[in-house]
Amino acid sequence: MATALNLGFPRIGANRELKRQLEAYWRGGASGEALLATGRDLRLRHWQAQVRAGIASVPVGDFSLYDHVLDTAAMFGAVPERYHRYGGPGDLPAYFAMARGVGGASGIAPLEMTKWFDTNYHYIVPEIPQDTVFSLASPRLLEEYREARAEGIPARPVLLGPLSLLHLSRTPSGGPAPLSLLRRLLPAYQQLLAALAKEGADLVQLDEPILSGDLPPEVAGEFPPAYAALAEAAGGAGILLASYFESLGEQLALIPKLPIKALHLDLVRAPQDLGDLLRLGVPESLRLSLGVVDGRNVWRTDLRKAFDTVASAVQAIGDERVYVAPSCSLLHVPISLAGERDLDPELRSWLAFAEEKLAEVHELCLAVGDPDRAQALRRGSDDLRQARASSPRRARPEVQARLQALTAADARRESPYPKRQVRQAERLGLPLLPTTTIGSFPQTDELRRLRAEHRRGALSPEAYEEGVRAEIAKVVRLQEEIGLDVLVHGEAERNDMVEYFGEQLDGFAVTHQGWVQSYGSRCVKPPIIYGDVARPQAMTVGWLSYAQSLTDRPVKGMLTGPVTILQWSFARDDQPRRETCRQIALALRDEVQDLEAAGLKAIQIDEPAFREGLPLRQSEREDYLLWAVECFRLATSGVGDATQIHSHMCYSEFNDIIEAIAQLDADVISIEASRSGMALLQAFQAFSYPNEIGPGVYDIHSPRVPNAPEMEAQLREALRSIPAAQLWVNPDCGLKTRRFEEVEPSLRHMVEAARRLRAEIA
Ligand code: GLN
Ligand code: ZN
Repeated sequence: MATALNLGFPRIGANRELKRQLEAYWRGGASGEALLATGRDLRLRHWQAQVRAGIASVPVGDFSLYDHVLDTAAMFGAVPERYHRYGGPGDLPAYFAMARGVGGASGIAPLEMTKWFDTNYHYIVPEIPQDTVFSLASPRLLEEYREARAEGIPARPVLLGPLSLLHLSRTPSGGPAPLSLLRRLLPAYQQLLAALAKEGADLVQLDEPILSGDLPPEVAGEFPPAYAALAEAAGGAGILLASYFESLGEQLALIPKLPIKALHLDLVRAPQDLGDLLRLGVPESLRLSLGVVDGRNVWRTDLRKAFDTVASAVQAIGDERVYVAPSCSLLHVPISLAGERDLDPELRSWLAFAEEKLAEVHELCLAVGDPDRAQALRRGSDDLRQARASSPRRARPEVQARLQALTAADARRESPYPKRQVRQAERLGLPLLPTTTIGSFPQTDELRRLRAEHRRGALSPEAYEEGVRAEIAKVVRLQEEIGLDVLVHGEAERNDMVEYFGEQLDGFAVTHQGWVQSYGSRCVKPPIIYGDVARPQAMTVGWLSYAQSLTDRPVKGMLTGPVTILQWSFARDDQPRRETCRQIALALRDEVQDLEAAGLKAIQIDEPAFREGLPLRQSEREDYLLWAVECFRLATSGVGDATQIHSHMCYSEFNDIIEAIAQLDADVISIEASRSGMALLQAFQAFSYPNEIGPGVYDIHSPRVPNAPEMEAQLREALRSIPAAQLWVNPDCGLKTRRFEEVEPSLRHMVEAARRLRAEIA
């Protein structure tokens, strides 16, 4: 038998217990002790669930109150000086000050936040000055390990490895953290590993996901000496080096040089890595953790294929050296199908969430060395796959026919931007430096209650419509009064920017409890795309034309783009992602045209996940960008020149894809920029963006209310690389996570900043 291993478990709780308790704590409605106790309860419950599923090596240290990258930095004392006034590295106030900032006049901005590789999880970017003195500043991991052992859990400590930690961090001036810090960081890791060994740990997982990408040779070259030092300090506690999300590629050659006890491979994303590694020759004692169960999607595993992979490894190195595991941490999938009462039974039989995935891992282990079991497992899996392949609910011939008939002209606007710009300027009559917002307004408790009652059927459709309309009217009035130039309807009807469309499109299913953490307490419920996509009827036209009827100012129609809908859903695994994306694009194209026909003069198609979908390997990027751009253009090119197409992107590095962003040919794009100190603007020094653009002037992920001079300074910074005629003024992102008390003054200050500059330029 092989050994069942898990790399990481979702943290938020099946009922989002962590979210609730965090938010209560932030509001002052729960104590720090209560929050920590919730953390302890969740950890214990999740460890037990993993043991129940048959996992023999359970991760400990994967839990986090906010983010594991921040935890690791804080654990080693990398807390920027300015946060020290909120407490030590292990104190909650200092921790949350770094994660979220602190509001009020004497407040503080949070650390930067960005996407975790190609996922929709966001991590806090540690800030590490050159002179940082690292230490084992917090005993958290040791304590959690003891906690697990005391409960009889077959625990294995987990933490982010030192090279990935440094590589993902920044210096205070925003540059990459220098590799020279490694020498100072390693002793702190060594101290921790030695302490864990002393506690009895015999395997410690160090995550080095940077190994699965294009790694500069000087970084790769640091692995052998660093891991030699770590292994020596770890003594009896061997190292499980884990990488995931891509092929190790040329970094495979490093493996034989590392004195590690075990290596984890993501064989879902990179099935070839196993054969390549075995051909290279693995050291006699190296164990392999085979990530054969997809940790990034919700489909049941093709157990025949997975078992063949496991069997080939067993044959090569023997079952006592083989672990079977999910491909990566299960952070990226919902906890359990148990909470899904309303899912169609057929669809449900195709799915596996975290707990069911662990059961698959266990089944695979049991089948090793048990031919009858292996045979039954293969047969069961084949039956299931056949049933899915022949299910009529997957195919819509009319959608496929429409895709076939597309021509290049369908992905092109009528005229090039300069011509459109003239038409739009005439029609919209906007001032210089026009102000707008990104779409959503605060989601009040009242609004959430309204939607929840509507969903439960406890409210008549008329009462619901009236409630949402009242909210739309309220935000339209507010925006007029604040003096914004292009208004939004506020998205009161949307629980989530992807789920809302997933609920209305054919080929999509939504879950009841399928929550996945996006950042901090924020969770999303990605829809599941199981079949061809079609739009049975208009999805947003009613709300938006109502909003436009209330005001003379232009209201921006608001849709989520095809790439983002794809990226933030669990996509089908039986056709290429690009095909699914094109289907979504066609459905959106119809919606865009309906909005135009309803009188909306501006329509925004959000693509916050456009960058996230970019492959980790350079060699695959061009292909992705081609089809992603094409899908956006398919969705947006069906309108006339006078209709202004906006788009929005956030929370990523955009500098390396700025040319693809220009190819989207949106008339206006708003991009997150403030939290990274307008670093985005560097891109415009080399590349002059052809259309209009609004780099966000304030961070909406923080409760802090920025003042007008601050935003004016941001705009001046922007004006150094973007001509005034092309510059828009807007926040970084939608306002739904904020409260009206924060949003109102912030927007007033923003409008004031724009007016002052406008006057000056005029
Ligand atoms: N229009 C969306 C909103 O305002 C955009 C959200 C996003 O970019 N994540 O909420
Ligand atoms: Zn955004």
